Amino acid sequence: MYTTRTKPKRLSKLAVAALITAISLCSLVVYMSVLKENRLGDLRKEQLILEKTIKISDTMTQALHKAEILAVLIRQADGDLTDFDKWADFLLDSPFCWAILAAPDGVVHRIFPEEGNEPLLGVDLFDENVAAREEAVIARDSRQLVMGGPFNAVQGGGKAIVGRMPVFMDTDGDSVESGDATETFWGIVSVSLRFPDILDSITLENLTLQGYGYELWRINPHTNERQTIASNGKAHYTHSLEGTIHILNAEWYLKISNIRRWYDFPINVIFVISLVACSSVFCVLQNNYHLKQMRDELEHMAKNDSLTGIHNRRFFMEISEQSLSKAVRNEEECYIIIFDIDRFKSVNDTHGHYAGDQVLVEVASRIKRHIRPYDHFARYGGEEFIVFVSDVGLDDIGIVAERLRLCLCESKFVFGKLRLSVSASFGVARIEGTSIESAIKKADIALYQAKEAGRNRIVLYAE
Ligand code: GH3
Ligand code: MG
Ligand code: MG
Repeated sequence: MYTTRTKPKRLSKLAVAALITAISLCSLVVYMSVLKENRLGDLRKEQLILEKTIKISDTMTQALHKAEILAVLIRQADGDLTDFDKWADFLLDSPFCWAILAAPDGVVHRIFPEEGNEPLLGVDLFDENVAAREEAVIARDSRQLVMGGPFNAVQGGGKAIVGRMPVFMDTDGDSVESGDATETFWGIVSVSLRFPDILDSITLENLTLQGYGYELWRINPHTNERQTIASNGKAHYTHSLEGTIHILNAEWYLKISNIRRWYDFPINVIFVISLVACSSVFCVLQNNYHLKQMRDELEHMAKNDSLTGIHNRRFFMEISEQSLSKAVRNEEECYIIIFDIDRFKSVNDTHGHYAGDQVLVEVASRIKRHIRPYDHFARYGGEEFIVFVSDVGLDDIGIVAERLRLCLCESKFVFGKLRLSVSASFGVARIEGTSIESAIKKADIALYQAKEAGRNRIVLYAE
């Protein structure tokens, strides 16, 4: 209650505000950018999935439909395979088209090109041990083109995807329209495509370069297990999206995900980094604030009296000398007023040292309110105070001192139930030249004279 200084606060408001603002901004910026990035990333992936699934479906279906064309040609020729090589040569127009065959009653009779595919000749496509046997059965029973694979090709040399197409002959001579009851099953035609070469034109590998993981997969109809058809081994990364590919009877799935690069930190890592950065800023600001607080405190202690909060003697002398030299330059008159509380010892003795302290604080506070802002006021020591009054004449210094004397004695000092009459005796001396010290001595003499003369009065030093 005695000092005008508040205790140093532990946290700097600036540092706390900076910390909260920095964390909020960092979080917001990180959140928004991640959100935006994710949205854009998802859109891009959706676009890629759409593009790739359409392309895969189109390429495969188009290639497999060659079996349908061959079936129509055989039907038109009433099952005569004389022109088979000519038809097949015409149909096998892409490097990924591996072979095309005709299998009357399911047994491979003709194949093109024959070279390299000889092991297939004579194979019964309905045989239990032949790959895609089920597809041949489904094709015959559904009368539709059916896709099988990918599986290891019978002739060796890699994997193949096949399209099995049933051929029905019209027994009543109608060779073009199909599907009526009079038709009899002639056999199977099949086109086989090299795998994964068929996917070359789809350029799935470009996805890796663009920073995406991918997996083309299906549920294997024979094992009912998930089977990866093609993958860059990175589809398990973050933010994956999936699209369905319909190829004839089959359903494939294309999954695309983001490959995490070294600079793609997860949001929690970014948040922790932001937090550490913000905390560091906070610590630096907080530290600076503490240092500044300590400096301010030391400076305050060096200049002020710890009980009353007004200036101490040392600082009073320093600022008074500065003001005096300015006043001397301006040829202004300056005065020193020293006052000492009357019978202060008895306040201490009667009401205690604490009450004495309260009186000192109140005296300082009252005087401070009654001096001009450009005058200086300090506790000179004990219950003695000093005032430096500048730019004042002999006529006015008495008025100034009287105002100070009255502000102490004209109303009682009230501390709770305690009501005290307080007065002080004043000694006033003109500062001659630049010697404040000698003016203080003279004011002290005048103060002594005021005490001698009965106290609560003002004495102006006279030579
Ligand atoms: P006079 O009218 O002649 O000045 O009488 P006085 O009692 O005021 O003078 P004296 O010099 O005998 O007593 C001054 C007293 O002031 C003695 C000292 O204990 C007391 N004092 C000095 N500094 C403080 C302080 O910081 N707090 C309190 N409570 N008392 C103080
Ligand atoms: Mg005294
Ligand atoms: Mg006294």
